[in-house]
Amino acid sequence: MTEGATADSPVRRPVRELPSALDRFEELEARLAGRIPAIFLDYDGTLTPIVARPELAILSEAGRDVVKTLAAKRPVAVVSGRDRPDVEKLVGIGGLVFAGSHGFDIVTPDGKSVDNQVGGDVTGLLDRVEERLSALIGPIEGSLVERKKFSIAAHYRLVADSDYGQFRQGLDTVLGAFPEIKEKTGKKVFEYQPRIDWDKGKCVLYLTQALGLDGPEYMPMFFGDDVTDEDAFKVLQTIGTSVIVSEPADDTTERTTYAHFRVYDCEQLLELLQKMTPA
Ligand SMILES: [Mg+2]
Repeated sequence: MTEGATADSPVRRPVRELPSALDRFEELEARLAGRIPAIFLDYDGTLTPIVARPELAILSEAGRDVVKTLAAKRPVAVVSGRDRPDVEKLVGIGGLVFAGSHGFDIVTPDGKSVDNQVGGDVTGLLDRVEERLSALIGPIEGSLVERKKFSIAAHYRLVADSDYGQFRQGLDTVLGAFPEIKEKTGKKVFEYQPRIDWDKGKCVLYLTQALGLDGPEYMPMFFGDDVTDEDAFKVLQTIGTSVIVSEPADDTTERTTYAHFRVYDCEQLLELLQKMTPA
């Protein structure tokens, strides 16, 4: 699996070369080799389809049942770019670990927040960035500046192609004015975070230790769909197993990934989680 990959040099492959986790389920099980999967789930685009506005990403009742049943048998954590209370409310299941803001903000099932060693007051900086972004791109029709606790998202799914140049110019102006923030690219969204050395990969490694899931009886598994999930796929390439949600249209692109397996949409992902739930 992922030939030539070592902990020091993970390998990216075109998504079209990835085996389907459903069709080749026995390969996935072979990789687990009897270990208990410690399951880490992204939310948007993974448990729910990508939608025009973030507030419309609702987990179906059937999807909620799948995750709930799985979480009764296996450790399950949701790791999202959304604010933690937001994703907690959308998932709507107790007994899970929730890590919001790409893992900046972690809460365990007993309601304790986990100190993730990310210090410093980033609120003031993000306030200033938000103000500037809102002034520059807010007036562009269809744009949406979404303030989260530890980041800011600038959405352009509903921006007309003819306005995109102005949108991008606004973002570049803000990036130029605030060298202490970095930009991450997502699906029709740019995300701004303080330049702190923290990502979903570090979050997953940290959580496995903090939750006692780093013993030899466990194997961490990450399920995600987007660019920020690659940080988690990367750290798990040798020590875990990853599944990417990647639509059939990605086969015609040069898209590459660190993940091991693939499903084609959220419904298949839920089917896989169901298949992984012990009777
Ligand atoms: Mg996602």
